[in-house]
Amino acid sequence: MNEITIPLDIKSLKIIAQTIDKNGNIIIDVESVNTCSSCHKCGKPATKHNGTAPMRLIRHLPIFDTPVYLRITPVRYSCEDCDDHPTTTEQYDWCDRNATTTKGLEEYLMRCLIHSTIEDVSKKEKISCQIIQTILDRQIKVEVDWEKVHGIETLGIDEIAIKKGYRSYVTVVSAKTQEGSLKIIAILNGRDNELIKSFLESIPLHVKKKIKTVCTDMFDSFVNAAIDVFGVQTLVIDRYHVSQLYRKALDKLRIKETSRLKGELDENDYAELEGMMWILRRDHECLSKADKEKLELLYQYSPLLKKAHRYALKLTHIFNTHSHRKSAMAKMNRWIKSVEKSELACFNKFISTLKKYQPYIANYFKARKNSGFVEGLNNKIKVAKRRCYGLVKVTTIFQRLFLDLQGYECYA
Ligand SMILES: [Zn+2]
Repeated sequence: MNEITIPLDIKSLKIIAQTIDKNGNIIIDVESVNTCSSCHKCGKPATKHNGTAPMRLIRHLPIFDTPVYLRITPVRYSCEDCDDHPTTTEQYDWCDRNATTTKGLEEYLMRCLIHSTIEDVSKKEKISCQIIQTILDRQIKVEVDWEKVHGIETLGIDEIAIKKGYRSYVTVVSAKTQEGSLKIIAILNGRDNELIKSFLESIPLHVKKKIKTVCTDMFDSFVNAAIDVFGVQTLVIDRYHVSQLYRKALDKLRIKETSRLKGELDENDYAELEGMMWILRRDHECLSKADKEKLELLYQYSPLLKKAHRYALKLTHIFNTHSHRKSAMAKMNRWIKSVEKSELACFNKFISTLKKYQPYIANYFKARKNSGFVEGLNNKIKVAKRRCYGLVKVTTIFQRLFLDLQGYECYA
């Protein structure tokens, strides 16, 4: 017979028998090598045998892609120390009380769930969704365990819309540690100022003291909560959010100019032009020489677009250049004055936003703390949401993100 012998990976169990049941599952009959259980009343070891509890069938890690079950009849012990000699059923360190899966299997399933869905893992491992959900709830807390959070340097606050077409948002609070690892801190049900503020206030002092930067977008509820709790110096509005705004302004002008040119140019010239509008949307550094030549042509047709594009690039350049906060402020001010003097109107709205948040935008230059990680996190959430279709409960979002971000750390 082609057989192999491998040791059971749970040292406190002795194998009594092994069989294969009619469904092809591997059944291993085991008994515990322990000779006592701690009394549920006094906590001292109870050593006197007092019958058995009902048999338990506990699923363990698969072997050769075949489900494995441990079959055990727990021993009951009575306590000699307590007057009424209460009976305690033995508990195991390899399996939670009442669980139908071993801890080893649970950890394996948690690894499977990283970047995956409950439905998918259920199909692959042939374990019901409900059991996997129960295990997930047992393994992953639904909120941050501050005891396990150390060295947070940067906090990020951002929001995501959880229902398409509805004005329904959750706030995502994330963090980056000194070592550069990402942590999910909280998913808050809503995004109003009081909610955010009271959460920030609830952060334990030992954690709060170490936070040097809080990154948000230009959403007043976040901005004001961050200022109230952490102060003006700590708040950084990420350049990414700023660039999104002026790119959007440029894009609006592009659309306007496109439709103007469509009416004015003959068909062939317009077709040629249309194919190059995308160039405007790319980072200038990424453009090839040919692209830049095409851009020149576009510039000839639309001097306004040329001007706006140049201004956008100038502002990007300010952010790309290493400056002190003060000189960056001065550069931004010069940029604003220059745009205001020009005939361009496309940046008007952007400029009033820029002025309003300029001190916090300029804080970026102090430590060049970029909240790119917050955006990276948001992308992960978007992907997680797509995977876990209908993820609306904040606790579920927290659990899934925790697994995606810290799963390999916890279940290595
Ligand atoms: Zn006792």
